[in-house]
Amino acid sequence: MTKRIFRAICLVALAVFLASVTLIMGILYDYFSQVQQDQLRIEAGLAARGVEENGAAYFDGLDTQSYRITWIGADGTVLFDSDSDASTMENHLEREEVKQAMVSGYGHSARYSSTLMERLLYSAQRLEDGSVIRLAITQNSVLTIMLGLIQPVLLVSLVAVILALVLASRVSKTVVRPLNELNLDEPLNNEGFDELSPLLRRIDSQQRQLKGQALELKQKKDEFLAVTSNMSEGLVLLNSSGTILSINNAALTILDADKSSVGQDILTVNRSLEMQKLLEEARTGQRSETKLCLTGREYQLDASPIISGGNIGGVALLLFDITERENAEQLRREFTANVSHELKTPLHSISGCAELMKNGMVKPEDTVRFAGQIYSEAQRLINLIEDIIRLSRLDEGAEDMQRERIDLYALSGSVIDSLGNEAKENKITVELCGGPAFIWGVRQLVSGMIYNLLDNAIKYNKADGSVKLTVSNEGEFSVLNVSDTGIGIPPEHQSRVFERFYRVDKSHSKEVGGTGLGLSIVKHSAMVHNAKIDLQSTPGKGTSITVRFPRA
Ligand code: ADP
Repeated sequence: MTKRIFRAICLVALAVFLASVTLIMGILYDYFSQVQQDQLRIEAGLAARGVEENGAAYFDGLDTQSYRITWIGADGTVLFDSDSDASTMENHLEREEVKQAMVSGYGHSARYSSTLMERLLYSAQRLEDGSVIRLAITQNSVLTIMLGLIQPVLLVSLVAVILALVLASRVSKTVVRPLNELNLDEPLNNEGFDELSPLLRRIDSQQRQLKGQALELKQKKDEFLAVTSNMSEGLVLLNSSGTILSINNAALTILDADKSSVGQDILTVNRSLEMQKLLEEARTGQRSETKLCLTGREYQLDASPIISGGNIGGVALLLFDITERENAEQLRREFTANVSHELKTPLHSISGCAELMKNGMVKPEDTVRFAGQIYSEAQRLINLIEDIIRLSRLDEGAEDMQRERIDLYALSGSVIDSLGNEAKENKITVELCGGPAFIWGVRQLVSGMIYNLLDNAIKYNKADGSVKLTVSNEGEFSVLNVSDTGIGIPPEHQSRVFERFYRVDKSHSKEVGGTGLGLSIVKHSAMVHNAKIDLQSTPGKGTSITVRFPRA
């Protein structure tokens, strides 16, 4: 600003200086021309008197160095000229000053020489005999005077320029200094600047407006941060070139990144091809999604373009944990495949037997055996379907099931009774130990749990083996333990026997009428009751399964 003011002042000073010089020169030139003209008139008058008195003799010995004198007859012929031969000169009747003098007694005029460097002033006086005396004097033109004055003009110009520079510098600093000293943080506290007060008031109002907007923005930002930092989903905001503008805590955990990733390209956090493709699509204005395995879990990534003013200003990336959903989906698929398979086998067997009987290919003495086969397969189907129905009920949730106070000891006694025949058939002795232990639960489910555990302990036992069912109280828990002296479960299978349709020995399980769903039902029922299951087993020696229920 100082420079601009300085330059403006210099330009103004220069313009004023040039205009003043031109004007003064013009006025002076005019003034001196007038003085010279007057001088010439007087001298022309004197010369006219001289010629009138002395005739042509007046010119003898006349000093005409500083001017030219011409005597022109009444008819315009030149009678005498101090500079040229009068006889060779043309008629002067048409000359301006001569014409004027002929008419009014006196005439004058000024003409430039051919070079324009000189100007000739003429003054003509009529004599009584009608002839005219004309005096001419050479005057320098403005240009010549200027050239002649070049040195002093340059000197004055130099002084003026230096003076202008110094003053302009001082003035510009003086003008700018108070502006620099303004307290713009508190514009209205600046005193002594009346001319600036509209500007200062405007600055003050704009500052207040800006502060209000900044506060509003901060509030919105805080709200946004509060919402996003408490989200379980990851949220990443990117600009159009893929730089991270904002990333919430959940996204930092999911992408295994830290806060320093803000301001960096998203590819420094995750370089996967899926991510690149996803963002590429979002940048073309399409909402796109993909699945990605991150930090050992399955995530769904949704990328939406952020459109502002018709342009894609960035991308909002949302990351959801879909591990549970995917697992459930996987389990559902496996379950459907397993159910179909499990149903198919007994149905094939039933269909095969029935076909043979229909075609009369079964001897009468074998009919009972075949019918027995059909019956046992149908029974298996019924068991299987009942187990599937139980499981699907458990999957739907057991909130609406009726809960009651249950004595595990008494319930175990009645389950042992219901399995008495099976135990007898398998030559297994079943013993109930312990005493009453109460829980708050769904009788049907708890009974099913004890049934399945006891049924397995009998089914997977050895001839003349034994099963011991113990009910006890351990601190806050009511504990049910089923131990057998059976075939046991190899360690590598122990963690999987609670999965649906998982069997250690498939053919043996089928042989003993297993569906592969018993322990799954036990696990789900335990979950409904917040109970913990513990399995201890040694192949060839036996298995012990303990269920700890919260005590009622
Ligand atoms: P199943 O209907 O086949 O018995 P379960 O889910 O009840 O299905 O059991 C799964 C598998 O776990 C069984 O097939 C069996 O191989 C094994 N298992 C369960 N209980 C015992 C046990 N008490 N002793 C030995 N193996 C067992």
